Amino acid sequence: MPNCFRLLSLLPLIFLLACSGPLSRRPGSEIVRPTPLILVSIDGFRADYLDRGITPTLNALAKSGVHAEYMRPSFPTQTFPNHYALITGLRPDRNGIVANTMEDDRIPQQKFAASNRKAVEDARWWNDGTPLWITAKRSGLHSGIMFWPGSEAPVHGSHPDFWAIYDQKLQAVTRVDSVLDWLALPADQSPSLMTLYLDTIDDIGHHFGPDSAELDAELRIVDATVRRLVDGLIERGLEHSVNLIIVSDHGMVATSPDRVINLDEILPGESARVVSYGVVTGIVPRPGHEREAESILLGEHENMQCWRKTELPARFHYGTHRRVPAIVCLANHGWTIASQEYLARKKHFSLGEHGYDNEDPDMRAIFIAHGPAFRSGVVLPPFDNVDVYPLLAWLLGLEPEPHDGNFDMLAGALKMSRPTETNEVGTTPP
Ligand code: AMP
Ligand code: ZN
Ligand code: ZN
Repeated sequence: MPNCFRLLSLLPLIFLLACSGPLSRRPGSEIVRPTPLILVSIDGFRADYLDRGITPTLNALAKSGVHAEYMRPSFPTQTFPNHYALITGLRPDRNGIVANTMEDDRIPQQKFAASNRKAVEDARWWNDGTPLWITAKRSGLHSGIMFWPGSEAPVHGSHPDFWAIYDQKLQAVTRVDSVLDWLALPADQSPSLMTLYLDTIDDIGHHFGPDSAELDAELRIVDATVRRLVDGLIERGLEHSVNLIIVSDHGMVATSPDRVINLDEILPGESARVVSYGVVTGIVPRPGHEREAESILLGEHENMQCWRKTELPARFHYGTHRRVPAIVCLANHGWTIASQEYLARKKHFSLGEHGYDNEDPDMRAIFIAHGPAFRSGVVLPPFDNVDVYPLLAWLLGLEPEPHDGNFDMLAGALKMSRPTETNEVGTTPP
């Protein structure tokens, strides 16, 4: 396949459309193309933002289609682990993206971070999961990924058919128009699975906080972006022949410089090394200092709690992966864990954060579904974000990979009854 990454830096986005290889077909068999599916992720869109009365498009889609009371993110409630959970159906402990920032003994001299291009593009971090675009490709279906964590790496050897290096500056309208352009391609090239990633709600939520006027202004803008997508579908006569699912990865909690746990004051530097600071802080005791670090961290703290990775609450489904650091500390609602050096590195103190307990109401995410496959006026009780994956696979007619989800939680969304699911981990014979 042509190197889309290099092309992107040289050519306008539209040229990415040329990056697709020929559609693979099994000899003698016709590919049955499913109704195209657009999966939109609005990063950091807290479930109750829908109740502010300033997102008419999203509210109308929710009302005339299906929406969840809320969707429970996976722990830790960070961007990369949750986007990968949504697209693989595996919780972070099993999809390998255990945090936005992480280390792995088997990938020495490379620290994974969203800002580390080399790591983000290195498939070794992502290969524990199989993103749906890979499953689609194996079945001869195309995917167009307008940004999604994991799409920039050749996971299990290949990229989606259309993809781009993440560019925060790329305007939301350009992202929408790329998706609409994909839909206009000839049938044998047009993607069946498309994603659209919108990042500004998370960005503004961090900078100004979830209760700010700036966030409300951005909610109106993101709603207009979704309106552009819906209008684009209507203009092309596609409103009844595309399935649209809109999700978020987590919510947002108001934070303050007055609610910071300074780890420097608690943990002497010689006793342990901090892998990542923030709401969730990963710590590795230095050899010979294990007991000292544990006796400091595992005791009671006013505004955070720490666990050995093996002793995390079962409901987090977290702690077995080798990339989870030996000790995990979690800040209480509205608090953050930092060091002087970490705070100094940040140019601006974030007034909003996520990463908290995935049962925290302020971490709740959205799920809205609209289109020919979906019923109208249905409100689903809360479910886990990994439950979305088997629905996505089913909508595309794909056999899901082993996953952690439960399709039954979403079956009520569908007009058609689905066959009994047979691929949930632990429940099914191969
Ligand atoms: P966080 O708030 O730290 O969980 O991360 C959210 C941020 O991740 C977004 O604001 C984006 O800037 C960044 N991000 C999202 N997708 C990607 C990607 N594919 N590559 C690099 N950074 C990304
Ligand atoms: Zn996020
Ligand atoms: Zn964020």
